[in-house]
Amino acid sequence: MKENENKYDGDIAIVGGGIIGSCLACLLGQAGFKVILLDVDTKPKKSSIENDPRVFAITIASEKILKKTGAWSLLNEANISSFRRMHVWDENGTGEIRFESASICEPTMGYIIPHQVILDALHKKIRDLENVIYISGVSPVLIKNETNAITLGIDNGQQYRTKLIVAADGSNSKVRELSNIYYSKHDYKQSALACIVTSEISHDEVARQRFLKDGPLAFLPMKNPFESGIVWSSSPERIGQLLNCDKKMFHSELETAFDNKLGKIQNSTERNIFSLNRAHAEHYVQPRIALIGDSAHTVHPLAGLGANLGLLDAAALAEILIDTFNLERDFGRLQVLRRYERWRKGENKQVMYLLDGFKYLFENQFRSVQWLRNLGLDIIDDMPIVKNAIMMRAMGLKGNLPKFARDYC
Ligand SMILES: Cc1cc2nc3c(=O)[nH]c(=O)nc-3n(C[C@H](O)[C@H](O)[C@H](O)COP(=O)(O)OP(=O)(O)OC[C@H]3O[C@@H](n4cnc5c(N)ncnc54)[C@H](O)[C@@H]3O)c2cc1C
Repeated sequence: MKENENKYDGDIAIVGGGIIGSCLACLLGQAGFKVILLDVDTKPKKSSIENDPRVFAITIASEKILKKTGAWSLLNEANISSFRRMHVWDENGTGEIRFESASICEPTMGYIIPHQVILDALHKKIRDLENVIYISGVSPVLIKNETNAITLGIDNGQQYRTKLIVAADGSNSKVRELSNIYYSKHDYKQSALACIVTSEISHDEVARQRFLKDGPLAFLPMKNPFESGIVWSSSPERIGQLLNCDKKMFHSELETAFDNKLGKIQNSTERNIFSLNRAHAEHYVQPRIALIGDSAHTVHPLAGLGANLGLLDAAALAEILIDTFNLERDFGRLQVLRRYERWRKGENKQVMYLLDGFKYLFENQFRSVQWLRNLGLDIIDDMPIVKNAIMMRAMGLKGNLPKFARDYC
């Protein structure tokens, strides 16, 4: 046996300390893995809603996963709101659908939490975990695969030899690029504008989404009954106009687009824009490499599911790795990682195409399609069994869930 053959700097290197990579680091760190977590950002991100005005709709499954990381109890309560109802309607026609958590005997449908608040809690937890080392301000430049190990070289000249590298470095993943994994991208030719607005009428803990002809507009209820996080998807030209117009004009455009549902818009924070793509990696795994979160897939934000899918990836991968680790087997082997790929790839693909279906259905301007979709909305609204099944699936109460997303464990 060659010298150093059994020397490792850690069990796993996770590249990307966003929500998904940090969640995996917590789950594995608590299970006894020695984790090296790396991020290109110069320091762990500090909580600042002004930096990133995105507020995330978090499912019950994601709540359970975040509870298992220990980060949920560190979330600042002042920033978590729950929503009990959801109202979706179409700009063209009278069709609408309403969901209510009480109809499936659940106190809430999910939570609305600023992105930065979740990240802050996960990073707080990571600082408490002795076996998770956080290295900031670095990016991978080299990946070298051996039979029993993998080496990650980073741009400060350091190298880390571990048994597995996990890519959690978002949609422009450097790990994916260095591993030559093909990533098919479909440009929606849409952008999304996000900011926080104050309305005249209380949101009453209802999440609302109106499908406009060029994209959906969502109002997500925040802790303050008059504040909502908005995500407005439309053509890049329209979003450009909305970004650059003055506040008065923006508020007036927003009131009209939202059918004046919450009355006058009285204030708004800085507007940020995001370009929207659907993308999917051809493979989620290679020997000693696994992709999770946006590095593996990105979806349209119309159902607020991107991070929720990524958290399920992290929980599923953690479950498989921990089971294999506890049996003292090599968890970086392709056969082990393939279990993760088989589990999550199909589920993510289903959601991806379902969301595309919704998007194109609601943007279709043929009168017959408009008529049919309004009729469809009304029919489903009158079918409690179907509606409850949709709701349970979307909330993460049903499906092939990892054990970290279930009640027991
Ligand atoms: C407008 C909008 C609204 C959304 N709303 C919701 C919602 O309501 N609910 C929901 O579930 N999802 C939502 N999403 C989706 C969600 O934002 C993403 O799915 C989620 O942030 C993905 O997390 P991630 O950790 O995989 O990637 P990211 O959040 O992109 O994090 C990647 C991390 O990797 C680091 N990194 C990047 N490159 C490198 C490198 N070369 N080396 C080292 N580190 C690197 C970055 O600094 C970052 O910390 C929304 C998205 C948009 C655009």
